[in-house]
Amino acid sequence: MTDAELLIRSTRVITPEGQRPAAVAVAGGRVAAVLPHDAPAPPGAHDLDLGTDALLPGLVDTHVHINDPGRAEWEGFATATRAAAAGGVTTVLDMPLNSVPPTTTPAHLEVKRRAAREATHVDLGFWGGAIPGNAADLAPLHAEGVFGFKCFLSPSGVEEFPELDHARLTEALGEIAAFDGLLIVHAEDPGHLAAAPSPEGSRRYADFLASRPPAAETEAIAPLIDLARRLDARVHVLHLSAAGALPLIAEAKASGVRVTAETCPHFLTLTAEEVPDGATEFKCCPPIREAANQDALWAALADGTLDCVVSDHSPCTADLKVPDFGVAWGGIASLQLGLPAVWTAARRRGHTLADVARWMSTGPARLAGLDRKGAIAPGKDADFAVLDPEATFTVDPATLHHRNPVTAYAGRTLHGVVRATWLRGALVAEDGDVTGRAGRLIARGA
Ligand SMILES: [Zn+2]
Repeated sequence: MTDAELLIRSTRVITPEGQRPAAVAVAGGRVAAVLPHDAPAPPGAHDLDLGTDALLPGLVDTHVHINDPGRAEWEGFATATRAAAAGGVTTVLDMPLNSVPPTTTPAHLEVKRRAAREATHVDLGFWGGAIPGNAADLAPLHAEGVFGFKCFLSPSGVEEFPELDHARLTEALGEIAAFDGLLIVHAEDPGHLAAAPSPEGSRRYADFLASRPPAAETEAIAPLIDLARRLDARVHVLHLSAAGALPLIAEAKASGVRVTAETCPHFLTLTAEEVPDGATEFKCCPPIREAANQDALWAALADGTLDCVVSDHSPCTADLKVPDFGVAWGGIASLQLGLPAVWTAARRRGHTLADVARWMSTGPARLAGLDRKGAIAPGKDADFAVLDPEATFTVDPATLHHRNPVTAYAGRTLHGVVRATWLRGALVAEDGDVTGRAGRLIARGA
């Protein structure tokens, strides 16, 4: 303990055992010990007292679209990871699509890493992609350190990342199961989407909602679970919106199928009823659904059916958010706002900061196998978010760090101001300003 360089005190430290007053000692960029609140500072250590500001483990956001290179005008590594740092997110995993090239071969992964290496403000890793024709690239990508593989079951929205039909899904999952990898799935059934009315030409959110019915999700998830059971494979359901799929996931988990699922801040905090006509900053796939559906998602977080809450930050340039729900790009930009957005709704529903840390840090770290992330405990990286849980602010998109100042949260008043962010013992953001760049590229198992 005597070699600690930093001691951070708070009356509200969020540890795996819950919230308590404590002093967290940091040595060599890791948590050395969690001590009593009044523990003496080791000689030479910087003694920092946060008062009543809460000390949370840095958030782990395993669902971020950075689009760099190729569509860097939508989002780039520097801007996205600055937004992450300012928002208390210390680890980001980048999705394999919307950049050109997509992360579907080891050579493409190297292109992505080269673009990110000098730019990242937080720790950054990559998912690989499973698309038609790249089954032979999956094992080499796994060996190169991607955290798992994303696939779509319906059109992704970009032509360089096609979906898998059932035969190709079976082939890819078999391949991934052979090295006990993880398949993460955008689960909407293409047949149900094709049969639904098109939202083309409509400014009405109800028309968009009708075009992505809940059955599209449940009818994609059911066969995915069957396949995971048959192949004894690990699968993860991305951005679950339809509460009707929750019983399927709960039953599968109870029967030993290795399935996990996430939901997103927008599904937990925004409702279909409140989306104004033409407000395509609220468009994402699957869609934000009604308030009753949202209540069921919260219940599923509370009972563990849902494992984590991650942003699905998927921005684009403002001109692509035309006021036509059929044509506008689908994706919600929220990387910097996930913690206050979720906390604002969580506190109203009687949940604690420890719950939020479990959903937004511990859960995603476990999903990705990030053993050194996701908790304030000895041996973990000293990644922290300092949050004033009672303070409020009104979202002004112009003050956010992501590249294009568009977000569905504009004008909302949120509880929880991120005062500072620490990455491996280094201060990287303070009061919204990104002050340091200590981010590293990370790889599975490293
Ligand atoms: Zn996504």
